[in-house]
Amino acid sequence: MSVDVLIPEAAIRDRLRELGGEVARDYAGKPLTIVAVLTGSLIALADLIRAVDVPHRIGLVHASSYRGATTTASTLVINETLAPDVADRDVLLLDDILDTGQTLAALVDHIAQRGAKSVRTAVLLRKIGRQTVPIEPDYCGFTIPDAFVVGYGLDYDDDYRHLPYVGVLKT
Ligand code: 5GP
Ligand code: MG
Repeated sequence: MSVDVLIPEAAIRDRLRELGGEVARDYAGKPLTIVAVLTGSLIALADLIRAVDVPHRIGLVHASSYRGATTTASTLVINETLAPDVADRDVLLLDDILDTGQTLAALVDHIAQRGAKSVRTAVLLRKIGRQTVPIEPDYCGFTIPDAFVVGYGLDYDDDYRHLPYVGVLKT
């Protein structure tokens, strides 16, 4: 398998700096906790927060969806072993990619139920034409066509996460 570059390293870096600046302006003086969805958003988290030049906490939550081979219906499993206390915090949920929207929508509800003061969302990527759950990310890095992408945290069979760019996997 080979990977065609879709979003080069420098473009991701520049965009995350921009988004980090926006987040810093929007959350200045607020009790911000950025909660990253493992594992795919780890690298985006590390780059984003270095551009968020206001005090904030970070937290992690693990979510995985198991999809049947013949259906797009999926069961989302949220593992909260690492989840931070978000009571009275303004939470910004960060995920790698918004595809159907199921993951992000479920996590927003979940974090709201745990007593967060506010919950907004950020995604590195948003795939066009796949969304089934109505949710608008508050911060979005790039919109991409409907293709399976890897790199910059996103995996295929737990590989390719280390690529410094986002690329399309070719079989
Ligand atoms: P959703 O719940 O929005 O359908 O799916 C979000 C999750 O599906 C992402 O967090 C990611 O783990 C996975 N996903 C969706 N599209 C892609 C893709 O193109 N590449 C990879 N590697 N993962 C994807
Ligand atoms: Mg994911």
